Amino acid sequence: MHRFAAVLLIVILSVPSSLFGADETALVGYSPRSSQGEREWEAKFRAIPDPANQREYMRRLSARPHHVGSPYDKDNAEWILARFKEWGLEAHIETFDVLFPTPKVRVLEMVEPTKFTAKLDEPALAIDPTSNQKSEQLPTYNAYSIDGDVTAPLVFVNYGVPEDYEKLERLGVSVKGAIVIAKYYHSWRGIKPKVAAEHGAIGCLIYSEPQDDGYTRDDVFPQGPMRNPDGVQRGSVMDFASASPGDPLTPGVGATPDAKRLPMKEAKSLTKIPVLPISYGDAQPLLAALKGPMAPDEWRGSLPIPYHVGPGPAKVHLKVEFNWDIKPVYDVIAKIPGSVAPDEWIIRGNHHDAWVNGAEDPVSGQAALLEEGRALGELVKQGWKPRRTIIYAAWDGEEPMLLGSTEWAETHADELRQHAAVYINSDANGRGLFFMQGSHSLEQFINGVARDIEDPETKLTVWQRRQLSEIADAKSPDERNELRQRADLRIGALGSGTDFTAFVDHLGIASLNLGYGGEDDGGIYHSIYDDFYWFTHFSDFDFIYGRALSQTIGTSVMRLADAEVLPFDFVDFADTVQKYTKDLGKLLADKQEEIRERNKELEEGVFKATFDPRRPTVAPAREEIPPHLNFAPMQNAGEALTRSAEHYRKALAQKQASFSESQLESLSALNRRLIESERKLCNEDGLPRRSWYKHLLYAPGVYTGYDVKTVPGVREGIEQKRYAEAEQEIVRVSKALEDEASLIESAAEMLEKQ
Ligand SMILES: [Zn+2]
Repeated sequence: MHRFAAVLLIVILSVPSSLFGADETALVGYSPRSSQGEREWEAKFRAIPDPANQREYMRRLSARPHHVGSPYDKDNAEWILARFKEWGLEAHIETFDVLFPTPKVRVLEMVEPTKFTAKLDEPALAIDPTSNQKSEQLPTYNAYSIDGDVTAPLVFVNYGVPEDYEKLERLGVSVKGAIVIAKYYHSWRGIKPKVAAEHGAIGCLIYSEPQDDGYTRDDVFPQGPMRNPDGVQRGSVMDFASASPGDPLTPGVGATPDAKRLPMKEAKSLTKIPVLPISYGDAQPLLAALKGPMAPDEWRGSLPIPYHVGPGPAKVHLKVEFNWDIKPVYDVIAKIPGSVAPDEWIIRGNHHDAWVNGAEDPVSGQAALLEEGRALGELVKQGWKPRRTIIYAAWDGEEPMLLGSTEWAETHADELRQHAAVYINSDANGRGLFFMQGSHSLEQFINGVARDIEDPETKLTVWQRRQLSEIADAKSPDERNELRQRADLRIGALGSGTDFTAFVDHLGIASLNLGYGGEDDGGIYHSIYDDFYWFTHFSDFDFIYGRALSQTIGTSVMRLADAEVLPFDFVDFADTVQKYTKDLGKLLADKQEEIRERNKELEEGVFKATFDPRRPTVAPAREEIPPHLNFAPMQNAGEALTRSAEHYRKALAQKQASFSESQLESLSALNRRLIESERKLCNEDGLPRRSWYKHLLYAPGVYTGYDVKTVPGVREGIEQKRYAEAEQEIVRVSKALEDEASLIESAAEMLEKQ
């Protein structure tokens, strides 16, 4: 996953904290006395997580396939419940009933010019002990593809994103009535059938290209970590980004037994055309049988074939039918009640369901979560009393598309809007750099935590390692300068693809998504080979980054739970908003320039001059130059935000030295306002054409899926050439930002009255 203007920040409250020793600087939101106590408890906490335990949790949880509705999924949920209870947490399982399709018929064959029947099977490997659990493994498929039986010429569409179809148009190739074959990656998988259907295709195949996660990168499994010729990426193609994630039959409400369910045909998030994922072993004969124009250079992969786009002469028959069953999902919810402010909740989650055995995804993250739960239970026994309520959640049904977390969030929406301060998520974890994404009001906070965690390999802090490696990768002197000068490293904005989505996008709860990775490549994602054997040979096999993740998130949970004043800060947030405003202005200006240039070239006859009659291409159409948009309301709101953010930071720095328990009521009112700060960035009407998404600053892209679109209403308005809508969205976003600035200003005034 995934930067700019040099900003000089006056750092009032910071920073360089000595690693594990006593730190003179008070933590943000803490009086000096409580800061010292907090640091002592946190140090005790970080000594507890044990890699050997995490290894054992992984062995147990990934021993058998545990997808939604499988016996071992339920068994795992009950095992996790028993562990939370054993460690002294209050815990229960919450069940929802969700639509979960599994395959009944899968046929893929080439009928012309030669016959070929696709294997659609990942073979057991003698060396890999869980790969032979055939009777429990879900066959390779894409969940929430509709049923279908289609025969048509094949067209190769690269990654199947909108720009690829523009290229096809230039090549004079249409996918109308065709079946498309797209490569995995470069967009979330569900975008491929969505865009294909929009262009008139009647079926969609998605294959794993060796260049992306196969032999081009490293040896293939089991000799190496990469995808072998039979490996297939399962995965959901639910159109969650244009509709909503979670159970397709109960959008916006919890999938409880008495919930009103839509008839299947009214479910908006199912695909429009049948989809099937395949291996490169199965894809190669199909691609090799294509003729027509050569694929553009950057479309070609590593298979030993000439990459043509078609259409045909390869003609394929694709038939898929599914069991459209309602299946239970089991969320395991554990709690440590708050001692002072039980009505303010810090929530931490990671899913436990997998596509198959799922050692990496999700158990590497779940094992870290469990070890945090054990360690926090241990601290409670030693006398630690968190100020706020802590909720630990092991979600079910994440893989089909965030079913367990979304249904839980929708069911408890009113309570969560009232009480939830922060949600922290993790998912698959690996070896390497600390990555942080989240709400920018938590940017300073999570940078602070990262300065207190030791990197297991380099012994630097994980913050230093991240900073130095970003300097190594920086593309310009400006970037390097910012990395050296700015107090905090920028955190990524939240898109989707894992369980924070309902919390931040639907309910406006400030959220973080955290993890380690980047050092090990792999090609087992969502295959039967993502298992204990693979993880313990090719990833964080000594579980030291699993321990680092426990230490990082456990520390974050404690620091959020114990602060007198929630450690939100708005200076980085305001800086980010101003950056987004500049980015949007540039996006529009670039688009205007691009179209102006192309129109000019059409007038000059550039396309006629470069036309090759043996490789004919179609000239692009003349386009209207996009109008100028008025970004002034956003610029003004951005400046108001910066003023109030600096005011708040100064007021907190002055007042936190004298926090005492006699101020309980006024602190509680202040915290209430801080919790509201993320809600204020939402609008009840939601984003254009997708009202489930309420957040005006962050959303998954309608045409990217997991990748974030920041200020989505405005950005997608420009990208999709809806300029009038973009203009209206600027007004709506600016109003929310002005309200946010007032809220921060009022919080600063509350502090000054302490
Ligand atoms: Zn996952």
